[in-house]
Amino acid sequence: MVTNEPRETSCATTKLLLTYVRARGGDAAVADVIERSGVEHTVAELEDTSRWVSHASRLRLFEAATAVVGHDRVMVEVGAAALRNGLRSVVVPMLRAAGSPREAYRRLPTTMQHLTTTSTLRVLVSSDNDASIAVLRAEGFEHSRHDCEYAQGLLSAVPALWGLPPAVVTHSPSSVEDPEECRFDVRWGSPARPSGVRRRRRELEADLAALRVQMHELQVAASDLVASQDVRTVLDRIVDHAATVTDAPAYLLVVDDAAGIGPLVRSSGLTSEREALLARRLAVDESLGADALIVDVASSRRVHGRLVALYAPGAGENSQSRELLEAYAHHAAAALDLLTALEDSRREERRAADLLTLAHDLATARDDVAVAQVLADALPQIVGCRASTVMQWDAALGSFRVIAAAGLGPVESDLVLSTVFRADQIPEIVGMLTHHGPMLVDVRTASPVLQQVLRTTGSQSVVVVPLLAGDELMGVATAGFSGLIDGTVEHREALARIAGMSDQGATALQNARLLATVRHQSQHDALTGLPNRLLFVRLLDEALRAAGTGSGTAVLFCDLDRFKHINDGLGHAAGDELLRQVSARLRGEVRPGDAVGRLGGDEFAVLLAEIDDERQPFAVATRLVDALDEPFRIEGREVRITASVGVAIHTGTNGRGDKLLAASDSAMYIAKQSGRNQVAIAGESLARRIVPSLEAELSKAAGAGELRLHFQPVVDVSGTDELTVVGAEALLRWHHPRLGLLAPGAFLPLAEEAGLVTDLDLWALDAACKQLAVWPPPSAGPLHVAVNLASASLVDARLVPAVRTALTTYGLQPSQLHLELVESRSLIDLPGVIDRMDELRQLGVRISLDDFGTGYSTLAWLQALPVDQIKIDRSFIMQLPKHGASLAVVRGVLALARELGIEVIAEGVEEPDQLAMLREIGCELVQGFLLGRPAPELDQSQPVVGGGS
Ligand code: C2E
Ligand code: CA
Ligand code: CA
Repeated sequence: MVTNEPRETSCATTKLLLTYVRARGGDAAVADVIERSGVEHTVAELEDTSRWVSHASRLRLFEAATAVVGHDRVMVEVGAAALRNGLRSVVVPMLRAAGSPREAYRRLPTTMQHLTTTSTLRVLVSSDNDASIAVLRAEGFEHSRHDCEYAQGLLSAVPALWGLPPAVVTHSPSSVEDPEECRFDVRWGSPARPSGVRRRRRELEADLAALRVQMHELQVAASDLVASQDVRTVLDRIVDHAATVTDAPAYLLVVDDAAGIGPLVRSSGLTSEREALLARRLAVDESLGADALIVDVASSRRVHGRLVALYAPGAGENSQSRELLEAYAHHAAAALDLLTALEDSRREERRAADLLTLAHDLATARDDVAVAQVLADALPQIVGCRASTVMQWDAALGSFRVIAAAGLGPVESDLVLSTVFRADQIPEIVGMLTHHGPMLVDVRTASPVLQQVLRTTGSQSVVVVPLLAGDELMGVATAGFSGLIDGTVEHREALARIAGMSDQGATALQNARLLATVRHQSQHDALTGLPNRLLFVRLLDEALRAAGTGSGTAVLFCDLDRFKHINDGLGHAAGDELLRQVSARLRGEVRPGDAVGRLGGDEFAVLLAEIDDERQPFAVATRLVDALDEPFRIEGREVRITASVGVAIHTGTNGRGDKLLAASDSAMYIAKQSGRNQVAIAGESLARRIVPSLEAELSKAAGAGELRLHFQPVVDVSGTDELTVVGAEALLRWHHPRLGLLAPGAFLPLAEEAGLVTDLDLWALDAACKQLAVWPPPSAGPLHVAVNLASASLVDARLVPAVRTALTTYGLQPSQLHLELVESRSLIDLPGVIDRMDELRQLGVRISLDDFGTGYSTLAWLQALPVDQIKIDRSFIMQLPKHGASLAVVRGVLALARELGIEVIAEGVEEPDQLAMLREIGCELVQGFLLGRPAPELDQSQPVVGGGS
């Protein structure tokens, strides 16, 4: 509308026109004029003297007014009324200041610049009573009769300013020679000079009237400025109203922003390019040209900025305009003072509310990341910075990591969130770590890494404040500003606020951490760190809720077999350690997303979610069983444990966690009942078992012909030269179909637990006797065979009959059979042991105390136990000959045994000097790799011993 139109004619002229029309025909006539003219302006716009319209609009209005009022001299009368009605608060004082009509006509060309840009005046001749004035239209503007009439009227009115009758104006319209120029000859009468006093008085009255109009317009403008709602509106109004007070076609206003965002620029009558250009020039104090009038917008409180009135070229400024613009700018500054103060207090109010919200949000944030985000989000609002982050300090890595950011674009945000701020790369961090105080990072002085970050995030300076819990540094909060921090009041306030918020944030972070620890403790098992039953069930419920129609959820219920034995046998510390190792193995067998929980005691459970293959849970369960089947090392010992696993699967939605868990539990019981160390699937027949239990296989080993005996020779070394094989120890082997040849260490503990050991011992007893019967007897006398017995076998009712049967079946002398018992607590504690030993000895069978020196009994026990032989454990023999204590033990045992009439065998002889020492101290019977390894067949040939004697 108005703004798109060329600014060629001041609306002071149109206002004048409409005032005239209204006086003749009322508002209806005014509306009629606008209607007829076809201009697209409202009455209010056309009477707003700060606006400008096009030359074309002006002429259309002139024509319409002439037609509506209905006589020929309309425009002459409008022009004549102009100065009487005080055309412009500016124009009248300007002309009055000239002092006389002659002088006023001479100044008219300058004055007219304030009203129109399409024509210029030139004074051709002037004297005390007449003047010739040429009106030159700018190129491209039509000559108009109405325009000339208006000018005629206007020119006639000038003498009235001095109380004279109107001048007589003759108009010579433009001619062919001068198509763009009209000429006006003006004649006026000499001022009647009644008296100096009366003249002076009339002049003063006219001045006063003009001043009143000025004051009024200034007041209206000022009160309108002050009535603005906010700073932005007041800025718009300052440029708009500037034109009502003075009379330039364009204005520019540049004001410093209190928030430090940069200068605020407003203009009227300028294209945006020109506005930007002029604002830039103004900022660096470059000249804006002779036609620019620049005044400060300043109050006693502060300098807000500058206001520029831009006149048409050549119009120049006059002192009157400057004074008015300055007065106006002063009002504008006062209005800005008021509104900035108002906005400050509003902002304070908002901040107080924001601080309350912050306190609340911090208190309700669930974890440290949420706390950090609340803090980061609040910083820009409360502090007035443009961006913020919260970083966490990782003392172990020596670095800060951003865990929350606000006020940044997605790209910048990603950048800071992925940057690790390392103390060894950023010297500022070292300062922060030592001082634990706030720090200012400035793009000009920052270390290279930080400089880079500041540049990419668009901050010129960043305030960094530590988040401290007591003395411990938890992290930092940062507030980034687009400008440089310069120590102004605003900035100092901002710093104080950041510090205050950081204190709150630090406390909230600390609370969140405490809460996280407590939450973790209440949901995790202290021993293994795994989720406890509570959390596991919750995770299971969540997984079932999230499951889609086609996907499956499985629980693998995993119970250790005979864990109680480990706890009782090795102690609780070892039991705990085993549970820890078991949990680590289970964790190691599943994907990171799968949950492993400890439900209690030796019960574990694994949750598999989003399963698309029904076979997968079973495969995982099998893996778990296999993984636990490998031996563990606890307190330097090898410990074995197996597990029984029950699998339950739910496919699709609406699964129930408690039911699924119960189903897997029942399946686990089925696995136990089927012989342990295996997997069972809920709701499936046992045929689906895939891992055959080692225990089950062992029970069938004898029947399947998988058991073997290896024989190790027992050698008499008492002869001076020759070594004689006098017997053999039978050592059990299991030829497992998948695992190959197994030594007793691999299956005996399991056999003992499963109560299978006596079956094995009885098998060994029979097989050993059978073998002895077929060996050709050496010349030195009959060979013996030694069979190892577990304590359980000794007290088993089947033992004595089996011994009798073997002796008779294979035709052996009872003394050819040695039964080896490991001296141990369990042997001594078993009721009926001594009786059983006596019973066997009465049969003529010889009893041997195995692994002597390692177990419970002291030498004194030798007297109590009915034994024929002791076997000194390998652990003593291998220390010979250097280790004095071992030597003493071996010597002592030999001496005591000789006294009690007990035979002694030294076990585990591997080195010739061990053998030499044993012979030297009088040990006659020896066993060991040096003299013969266990083998399927006994080598009876004389052992060859390298070195020694
Ligand atoms: P043990 O009764 O002390 O048997 C001697 C073990 O020491 C055998 O291990 C043998 O191979 C090994 N050995 C012999 N000489 C040396 C040597 O010079 N150096 C070293 N380093 N080792 C040597 P194996 O065959 O693995 O048997 C281990 C244990 O299993 C036996 O210890 C015995 O307690 C038990 N055992 C073996 N067969 C049976 C059985 O049929 N029934 C029962 N209940 N236990 C058995
Ligand atoms: Ca033995
Ligand atoms: Ca032994």
